Amino acid sequence: MGNMKKRPTGCQNPATELLNATGRAPVLLVCEHAAHFIPEVFDNLGLADKDLQSHVAWDPGALAVAKLIGASLDAKLVASKVSRLLYDCNRPPTSPGAIPVQSEAYGIPGNVGLSDEARAQRIRDYYEPFCDLLTVTLADDSNLQVLVTIHSFTPVYMGQNRAVELGVLHDEDSRLADEMLQILPGLCGLNVQRNQPYGPKDGVTHTLKLHGLGSGIHNVMLEIRNDLITTQDQQQQVASAITATLKQALDRLDTSQKFKAAAC
Ligand SMILES: [Zn+2]
Repeated sequence: MGNMKKRPTGCQNPATELLNATGRAPVLLVCEHAAHFIPEVFDNLGLADKDLQSHVAWDPGALAVAKLIGASLDAKLVASKVSRLLYDCNRPPTSPGAIPVQSEAYGIPGNVGLSDEARAQRIRDYYEPFCDLLTVTLADDSNLQVLVTIHSFTPVYMGQNRAVELGVLHDEDSRLADEMLQILPGLCGLNVQRNQPYGPKDGVTHTLKLHGLGSGIHNVMLEIRNDLITTQDQQQQVASAITATLKQALDRLDTSQKFKAAAC
């Protein structure tokens, strides 16, 4: 974990939460963009209420799907409780996207011209508790061999329609993604693609690298197009397909096998 200091982190705090804390599955689910909540003191970061309901502030539907998968698998779930506009927990503090001044076409006035102290405060208040909770959860349960992060994306980005419906994303360790890419299309009937609509080059694999590659456990990031998970029925359908795929993939993989980076 580099120089990140370990601090006592409860299961519940204002920034992050561990759901289904007694889950016994070997899978740890993660939802970095679960919430659009912004504490009152930030005055909506200068945005209108309707913008804070949109994908700009969070991943609509992602937490609902993650909870359903967690319930079927009996898996623990770590979720952020605040908007990614305050701090994007899937970005390292060094990334300009961690506290974005722009998201798609939206400027984020409350993030412009932050002082070093204000940035440091955001990192302390939102990123570190999230990161620490993930670290502690993985460390406390040696049964956890698989990390799965759940996201959603907007069907129209910068005016362009996106054909991909479900993205299976990975960084250097593609073991779980490879298996899922073989199984998932047949189970869900969706347009499933590798490293779409984002990939490692877009900086979206921070959690996978830090907590997956960092410990060698199997890891994958799933991106679901958010128009496919707006109703409870849709959420259940997609969650069922992902759950069944994960079960099959984990049957095929030796999950005790740690990933070792190829020598370069
Ligand atoms: Zn996301």
